[in-house]
Formats: sequence, structure tokens, C-alpha cells
Amino acid sequence: MERVWLALGSNLAEPLQQVDTALLALGSLPKTHMVMCSSYYRSRPLGPQNQPDYLNAVVALETALTPEELLAHIQFIELKQGRDRQIHRFGPRTLDLDILLFGTKIIATSRLTVPHYDMHNREFMLYPLEEIAPNLRLPNGTILVNLRRKIARNGLIFWDDTHRIRYW
Ligand code: ATP
Ligand code: MG
Ligand code: MG
Repeated sequence: MERVWLALGSNLAEPLQQVDTALLALGSLPKTHMVMCSSYYRSRPLGPQNQPDYLNAVVALETALTPEELLAHIQFIELKQGRDRQIHRFGPRTLDLDILLFGTKIIATSRLTVPHYDMHNREFMLYPLEEIAPNLRLPNGTILVNLRRKIARNGLIFWDDTHRIRYW
């Protein structure tokens, strides 16, 4: 089993329901179990600003799937939840599931870049990840907290006042 960290994001069609539904789907993947989920956060969009704020969270999974298998599963979950891949890369979406870290693997293929290529620049990935993995190091030895300290919150707040980490 490998410990995997996934980032979730949604800013269309009831983001709270989208993310809750995605958590159920992730929890029922084969050879996989959910470990924990960060609080839900509200962030400013990347790219075009004329779109709603995002709901973001980070989850920890344990899985015996390969990275390619996990990618196929998360893309299927995105599609089932109405993800439209026609629109702009940073346009609004019902659900985005990105692999931040897959154990200590470093992956660079045409379909998969792990660690996520831009996580070190994104407050909505670093802050929730730190919340559930305060002692994490990246595969290259970088301490997560040191990355997060360089990135401003950029308006990142809790989604609502029921924020909390959840454990499975
Ligand atoms: P960004 O990757 O900048 O966060 P995005 O998440 O909106 O943008 P997508 O449209 O979800 O981009 O994914 C584009 C492609 O990225 C996918 O088809 C997938 O093959 C590839 N990809 C590469 N690395 C990863 C990763 N670590 N997690 C998820 N998808 C990845
Ligand atoms: Mg993304
Ligand atoms: Mg994505």
C-alpha cells in the first residue's frame, strides 16, 4: 500500500455536494481506503477571475493501485460528476481531482507528473495538505512547511464554520 495525497477542487454545481460525492467515490475505489480529509477551504480562482470561488480540500488515501490506475479512476469520477474538458484549462469546473503525491514516487510521463507540477505555488494545495500532514516531506526531501511558508494565503479561508479534519 502507498499513501497518496489528492487535491479536490470544485466551483460549479453545488461544490459542497460535488466534493462530498467525490469523497464517497474515492472511498469505494478498489484496493483503496480513505484515511483522512482536510477541512474544506474557499479559494480565489486561478486564471480567469470571472468565475466563482473554489471549494478545495486534500485527502489522504492508502492504495494498492498503480499511479496510472488511480489516474484512470479519478478521471472517471471527474467525468461522472460532469467535468467538461472542452473549457479553458483554468476555467470553472464541477470537479478536479489531482494527485499531489504518490508515496515517495517521482513520476514524469506524458499523462502523469508527480509530485503535482505546481503544488509549490498553490495556497489551496499547500495549506490543506499541511493541515493533515504537518510533518510531510516531498520526495526530494523538501519540508512541506517550508514550501507553505513562502506562499501567501491569497484570500484562502475555511469554507464555513464547521471546518474540521475528518478521519476514516
Ligand atoms: P492543473 O494540472 O494545472 O491543476 P487541471 O487540473 O485543470 O490543471 P486537468 O484538465 O484536470 O488539468 O488535467 C489535465 C491532464 O493532467 C490530465 O489529463 C492528466 O493526464 C494530467 N496530469 C498530469 N499529472 C497529473 C496529476 N499529478 N494529477 C492529475 N492529473 C495529472
Ligand atoms: Mg488541477
Ligand atoms: Mg486536474
